[in-house]
Amino acid sequence: MPLEKLEIVQEGKTNGEGTVMRYRTRKGTDIFCLGVPIFYESGEEWDLGPTFCYLVMGEKTTLIDSGQFDRYEILVSLLKRVGCDVKDIDRVIVTHSHEDHDGNLPELLADSGAELWAHYAFESMIKYHKEINDDASHPEFPGSCRCCLMPDKFNTRCRQYHVKRSNVEIGRHVDGLSAPPGRDYRLLLTPGHAADSLCTVFQEEVLFSGDTLLPTITPHPSLMLEYYVNRRILPDGYGGNNDAYGLIAYINSLYTLKTQCIDVDLLLPGHRLFEKGKINCLKPSERAAEIILFHQERCKDILNILGNRGLKLDEIALELFEPRLRKGWGRFMSQREVMSHLELLSICGDIEWASKEFMSRATGSNNYKEFFVPYL
Ligand SMILES: [Zn+2]
Ligand SMILES: [Zn+2]
Repeated sequence: MPLEKLEIVQEGKTNGEGTVMRYRTRKGTDIFCLGVPIFYESGEEWDLGPTFCYLVMGEKTTLIDSGQFDRYEILVSLLKRVGCDVKDIDRVIVTHSHEDHDGNLPELLADSGAELWAHYAFESMIKYHKEINDDASHPEFPGSCRCCLMPDKFNTRCRQYHVKRSNVEIGRHVDGLSAPPGRDYRLLLTPGHAADSLCTVFQEEVLFSGDTLLPTITPHPSLMLEYYVNRRILPDGYGGNNDAYGLIAYINSLYTLKTQCIDVDLLLPGHRLFEKGKINCLKPSERAAEIILFHQERCKDILNILGNRGLKLDEIALELFEPRLRKGWGRFMSQREVMSHLELLSICGDIEWASKEFMSRATGSNNYKEFFVPYL
């Protein structure tokens, strides 16, 4: 059982911050799980917990994700705790271009000389595209943040980091066409949470999922709206039709994980591997199936809430989410979550937009059920 094979090397906080665990694969490779703290100012009750970064020993020492920006010293000290000097790292695989996962890359790559592997859209996400004139709310930000809805206070914190990040060099643009060297790594393009989400299967035994699969919470889907804004900056093959953004893209990726990781034992996620003082041990294909079902259920709930009323995003979100989840910028997130489902329901013909302020109304059909059938 994988649970018995996860051994605590260093106790941290009950939410997993500072926790270090070791997993030994059947082939005898050690994987160290490092809980790198995240700091948010919002102070709400809701706690995402740390970002889990994974140090994979072996012929090439590989680090999956590098934690939140400005946490480099903590990352280095957790690596030291398991006997790893930054210079020992040969390769970094980044799961997606969110600041709690690709933070510290500039320092880490400079100090280690490691090669960076990333989804082939990652470069578009870290670069600036000021020359492209479109509807982005923040055309002056890098690709990952051109649609940022966060308040200015939030943005100012990461601005400097983005400038540094835009200069990192990508050694391997993972395009899903060519397999990586060696047999241990299988890379899966899984857009949806982010346009450049990348999952890694290691030795057909564990899956590093970033934020595409999480235990105990459902990852946040991106919006199709973001595709319409960002399609001009996406690499070839992403600009023609939308494979990159929104709930449909995400559900496709969940299906990829559900069907292509059937024999993979253990999920090693970007967050919540450890929380409330215990380890969450899940099988990736089962977790992917659960999350697909969750979104089907949520489509049903939203149609029920709408009934025969026309409602705005926030009015739906207010009925759908507990108040504690809507504190601080949780409110933006709840609206975005509703929006991602309305986009799917709109494509299915189950809702129509009743005004320009994203007021929607149910049409009376339930075509979404049919949409989900092939994924179940
Ligand atoms: Zn993320
Ligand atoms: Zn995350």
